[in-house]
Amino acid sequence: MKHQPPPPPLPLSQPPSMGATVAGGVASVISTMNGNSSSGIEAVKCRPPIYPKPKTPSFDKDRDYIGFATLPEQVHRKSVKRGFEFTLMVVGESGLGKSTLINSLFLGDLYKNRQMPNVEERIEKTTKVEKKTMDIEERGVRLRLTVVDTPGFGDAINCEDSWRVCTQYIDEQFRQYFTDESGLNRRNIQDNRVHCCLYFVPPWGHSLRQMDLDLIRRLHRKVNIVLVIGKADCLNKQEVRKLKERILQDLEDNHIQLYQFPECDSDEDDDFKQQDRELKASIPFAVVGSNTILEVAGKKVRGRQYPWGVVNVEDPEHSDFIKLRTFLISTHMQDLKDTTQDVHYENFRAQCISQISQHALRERGKLKRDSISSTNGFDAAISETDRLLLQKDEEIRRMQDMLTQMQEKLKQTHLMEMKKNDSVIDV
Ligand code: GDP
Repeated sequence: MKHQPPPPPLPLSQPPSMGATVAGGVASVISTMNGNSSSGIEAVKCRPPIYPKPKTPSFDKDRDYIGFATLPEQVHRKSVKRGFEFTLMVVGESGLGKSTLINSLFLGDLYKNRQMPNVEERIEKTTKVEKKTMDIEERGVRLRLTVVDTPGFGDAINCEDSWRVCTQYIDEQFRQYFTDESGLNRRNIQDNRVHCCLYFVPPWGHSLRQMDLDLIRRLHRKVNIVLVIGKADCLNKQEVRKLKERILQDLEDNHIQLYQFPECDSDEDDDFKQQDRELKASIPFAVVGSNTILEVAGKKVRGRQYPWGVVNVEDPEHSDFIKLRTFLISTHMQDLKDTTQDVHYENFRAQCISQISQHALRERGKLKRDSISSTNGFDAAISETDRLLLQKDEEIRRMQDMLTQMQEKLKQTHLMEMKKNDSVIDV
């Protein structure tokens, strides 16, 4: 049976090419909010999304047309209507350029009211979790982006709690999702699970430090980790290459697995395959961030002005910033979410279910033991009562015997006396 090919869905957003500038990225940041918890999220009025209307199939013209070929279009429409959520965790010691990079990536200002701790505060400081949410809209597609920051990470002399705070936060979000999912109302579950963790490695030093390895080892089975070398303008090209090689070697030696890029489909076009290869080869991304727009040769660029020249953040020769943005936003955001759902959350869920069933088994065993012991007690109590009853029965029976004997004796005595009286009369 010949099926009429459906009309192609209208393109809503095209991924920017690797060399694209900020203009190709996020169109408008609708609101920026600060807060430590999800409760800090306000209702934000968004422009109504523009999504394509489904074409009504013309049944009269072509009777062979069933219509299921519009399914991708229907899914597309529904997803656009619902909007998207993405949670990004940023981990790394303070001063590595995390906030600058996030602002550069999403063209917002998430860190307006930031207060920097002084040295004494930093020595004693414990790692906190700060959650900031912004609603972004681009060509009618709405994205609720949540950035989870960990200020104080690695600041204190004792870094023990740094990794604990991160792992606890990730687990808590999984637990909350698991609870919501197992509840009665599963319709409007808010997904706060961490979909990606950008881990910042300092450009100084020769490779990963022990604390980096400790944390990454604890996180790599819970979240998609993407390594980023911050402030990469401190290094020349050769130094960047060497540092990347050593970091990858360290990870391999320690059996640590970062986020694995999915294999490119064979039917993808050559440009996409080339882009995918370049992205994979760039890991860990060596990035430069800046919130300053400079004018270079008549063009406005996001960059850092130095006495010897300008570092153009978006120039692939200067940094992997555009590659990171392409990967994170344009090409792999959905895969990061899918991996979170299918791999990390599934692991957590399987552990939870096994713990729950073990607990239930233990409880059942305990109940059984309790009921057996209480039944034994009941039996014992019953046999004691029976014994007492039997004893009483025996006593009553003995008394009845005695009574019968006494009655018998009385009867005989009475008979004898009567006989005596009779004989007296006879005489
Ligand atoms: P955070 O504490 O990790 O969030 O770091 P910030 O983003 O607040 O940056 C700390 C300082 O480093 C600021 O003065 C930034 O201007 C500067 N900075 C941020 N990104 C870069 C970068 O890529 N290269 C250089 N050289 N400096 C940067």
